[in-house]
Amino acid sequence: MNDVVIEKQPILSKILSKLNNSLVGAQAYLLVGDDEDNLEKYSLIFSKILICPEKYTDNCSKCNICSRIKSGNFGELNIIKPVNNVIKKEEILSLKEKFKTKSIEGKNQVYIINNVDTLNSSAANSLLKFLEEPDDTNTIAIFTTTNINSVISTIVSRCQVVRLNNEQLKKGMKYIKKITFLTEEEINNILDFLFIIENNFVKAVSLMKVQFLDYFNTKESLKNALMVILLSYKDALNYKIFKNMDYFNNETGIKNIADCQSEEIIIKKIKFILENMQKLEYNVNITLFISNFIIGIGEITNGKSNRN
Ligand SMILES: [Zn+2]
Repeated sequence: MNDVVIEKQPILSKILSKLNNSLVGAQAYLLVGDDEDNLEKYSLIFSKILICPEKYTDNCSKCNICSRIKSGNFGELNIIKPVNNVIKKEEILSLKEKFKTKSIEGKNQVYIINNVDTLNSSAANSLLKFLEEPDDTNTIAIFTTTNINSVISTIVSRCQVVRLNNEQLKKGMKYIKKITFLTEEEINNILDFLFIIENNFVKAVSLMKVQFLDYFNTKESLKNALMVILLSYKDALNYKIFKNMDYFNNETGIKNIADCQSEEIIIKKIKFILENMQKLEYNVNITLFISNFIIGIGEITNGKSNRN
């Protein structure tokens, strides 16, 4: 018996050990977890076990396939990731083309689709057809997601679902970068602009073009910038109540907001941002939207708002 042990993941370890010792398994697996990096890591171990012609061990040196998988140079493993948060149909079509015939080198051929919840609808339909085709090519699918509720149910029902233990302890900057697709520099620029809004919203309106709009001038980028602002106020609230932050590592500017404002004001701002994020879904004039947003935040700070 060659057992596979993955720390803190007993269920996954059990499934992988079983697979490592017999060939019988599912045609498709859906790994559900809270950390995308770990999901990627586990999906790769999973694929090595499915592909390695020997019994897989941690550092398999019996075959050169495992090392080629590690370096991303193995043709019978195909990995698909979302680009700009979407996976398009073309990706699935080229996958089908590639996997028309049986594997030559490995025990199986494997494709991984990371963040399978980001398939657009035509890609999802195309994938479903692929999953429904009778398999005579020993092709096995591994999907990952951090949000199973957003995965199309007809795909979920075709998979063995593997729920991983949660591993993410602290969210931090890495998390913000991941959910907003922004760089650390961009995130810090947004924070700087937020602190201008907080200190002097009239000044912020006059600076909004050069400090903000020149960088965030599409709906999508604006939405991500608003997300950073939302998390800042959430952290201000965290700091006020629990004396620590989930995202920004006790940022001084956010501490100041927490120290100078009541919980009620901060909560009002969080609500106001959420409302505005929704408004962005409709057609809006971006310049007008931002100036209204800045003024709205300023009014809440000064207690002039009658929002509730
Ligand atoms: Zn191997």
